[in-house]
Amino acid sequence: MLNRKFVLMLIMTVVLGATGCGWIGGFGTAGETGASTTTAITWSDATTCTVSFYAMDTYMSMTAYEVASSEALEGVAAMIMDLEAELSATNESSAVARLNAGEVVQLEADSATVALLNRAREVYTLTEGSLDISIYPVVKLWGFTTGEYQVPAEAELIALLETVGFDKIDLGASASSLQLPSDMQLDFGALAKGYAGDVARESLAEAGIDSAILSLGGNIVTIGSKVDGSSWRVAITDPASTDDYAAVVEVADVSVVTSGVYERNFTDEATGVTYCHIIDPSTGYPVDNGLLSVTVICADGTLADGLSTALMVMGQEAALDFWRTHQDLDFQLMLINDSGQVLITQGLEGSMTLMSQDYELVVIE
Ligand code: AMP
Ligand code: MG
Repeated sequence: MLNRKFVLMLIMTVVLGATGCGWIGGFGTAGETGASTTTAITWSDATTCTVSFYAMDTYMSMTAYEVASSEALEGVAAMIMDLEAELSATNESSAVARLNAGEVVQLEADSATVALLNRAREVYTLTEGSLDISIYPVVKLWGFTTGEYQVPAEAELIALLETVGFDKIDLGASASSLQLPSDMQLDFGALAKGYAGDVARESLAEAGIDSAILSLGGNIVTIGSKVDGSSWRVAITDPASTDDYAAVVEVADVSVVTSGVYERNFTDEATGVTYCHIIDPSTGYPVDNGLLSVTVICADGTLADGLSTALMVMGQEAALDFWRTHQDLDFQLMLINDSGQVLITQGLEGSMTLMSQDYELVVIE
């Protein structure tokens, strides 16, 4: 099911060498259906191969340069589909679905589930709970998993928040079995695509591919630089006009991950209020703090994915403070707010270009 933006995305791939962020659909959430397991392979010249497929509720497309075969890309596509099966809360046999059903689950130390539980804990701690994968029951109550949206009664939300709090889980140092506290449920939707990108990067590097760009449902993963040595140009969606781009950023060897209010939302007909899919775990309500999107640029794609969601929750000032106080994490930010500003952290100065006259550029130090 190609929509207008997908076609545009393909065109922009040619124009810019990459496309950017904020692609519709979210892992584990309601959205476009009609998922196909078909993997399409196209060669744009003798050594440039693109493999496209549908996974984690979204279109994914990976282009590798100077390759003789599509084998490595096809292997990564299969790996991401396997990861989806392993990590999806809606796949009844997955470890997370069984945890959510209250079962005691034996976890393998080297599984993706354990890796993501640990990364989720890390980002939960770093962001003081702004990323909390145990928010899942609240995400469901709002209807974001089914598309049957509703504004819950406040009392119901407050009661449900009792089950939320990743710190209630005892992951232990080397626990091989886990059971969640009663009624607690998890979903890796805010992290899984970032993790898939990191796994893909590793696998393609092992296959000797050193120039590739992956678009995993809005998460862009760049491997090396372009064949001519220049940077990739990744376009960032304009939250105010989602078929357009607000900015282009030039990057190499990093993931570019955007979370935005426009990705999935609904408008309550009674009040005219629009609610987005990113929930503040401290209130149970969708965020509405003036930030329209957060883009995180970082070599660690899982961290970028976790932070993009968490910083949306934290809001502009706290997000910028977080950047200032966590320079050791080696990431850059692009925030777009509802005052018409594109704010970039210092490391992006000189490598980004505004694409829309509607925005004022502000460089953060
Ligand atoms: P992302 O697109 O990476 O920002 O992830 C957003 C998805 O993560 C939503 O569709 C929800 O399924 C889930 N989610 C929403 N709010 C949070 C939160 N505060 N912490 C963790 N996951 C969340
Ligand atoms: Mg995220």
